[in-house]
Amino acid sequence: MVDLLIADGVSKRYGDFWAVQDVDLTLTEGRLTSVIGPNGAGKTTLINLLSGLAETDQGTVRFVGADITCLPIHERVRRGISRSFQITSVFPQLSVTHNVLIPVLARRSEAASPLRGISPDADAWREAVGLLGEVGLGDVADQPAGALSHGNQRLLEIAMALAPRPRLCFLDEPCTGMNPSERQQILALVARLAEERRTTFVVIEHDMDVVFAISEWIVVMNRGEKLVEGPPEQIRGDQAVREVYLGEVLD
Ligand code: ATP
Repeated sequence: MVDLLIADGVSKRYGDFWAVQDVDLTLTEGRLTSVIGPNGAGKTTLINLLSGLAETDQGTVRFVGADITCLPIHERVRRGISRSFQITSVFPQLSVTHNVLIPVLARRSEAASPLRGISPDADAWREAVGLLGEVGLGDVADQPAGALSHGNQRLLEIAMALAPRPRLCFLDEPCTGMNPSERQQILALVARLAEERRTTFVVIEHDMDVVFAISEWIVVMNRGEKLVEGPPEQIRGDQAVREVYLGEVLD
């Protein structure tokens, strides 16, 4: 298995407060990884550092062997890293298809400003429609994105995150605001996409049932530090993890 991304001692400080401190992490190609931990543990900040949304204060990040520590987010996208966001971030006035066309066109290095209008070619349309079909939004492709249900907007964000054809894709709480069965569905979709598209997904998720059902590897964050990582069966039995979660959710 290929080591896709290697973080070595990455840290992020806000004032005197270390949101992420000295985290070593290896993301292996093809291994569906979940990042878990209590609120404020540093999960989103860690993913911000790895995807380029935030600058590291210490440490290095390597992606397929190259040092990307100082590369901006668009350059990391170009190299094969994409992400979705914790807060829904679709363009509500644009159609569902146009929302996906923007990152498709960005990848193809064409002008894609929603303010200047979009004139994509047939291939770009086909690709966007195909992506929507893959996430189950083919029937609502012509609707304004803002008219979609919350769950469908989260699916749309997954399609948008896949448009750059990432090798590594971070999904920050893709199931937030969903009921347990919707969570199961969305994460089953992620597992299927991982298989079909050969994309390595890293998911931040709070629902432990779902985490233990789908993950092949789990990274536990606590107070900005990596507490422990390992396969689900190891994490389930880990005493330190149980203490962080008060034992409740792991039984
Ligand atoms: P949650 O599960 O609630 O989303 P998290 O594990 O993703 O939490 P982060 O969002 O990474 O945690 O935040 C870690 C800590 O860093 C928190 O205490 C947060 O308040 C702080 N923090 C995050 N971003 C900033 C910022 N831009 N400025 C100051 N503090 C920040």
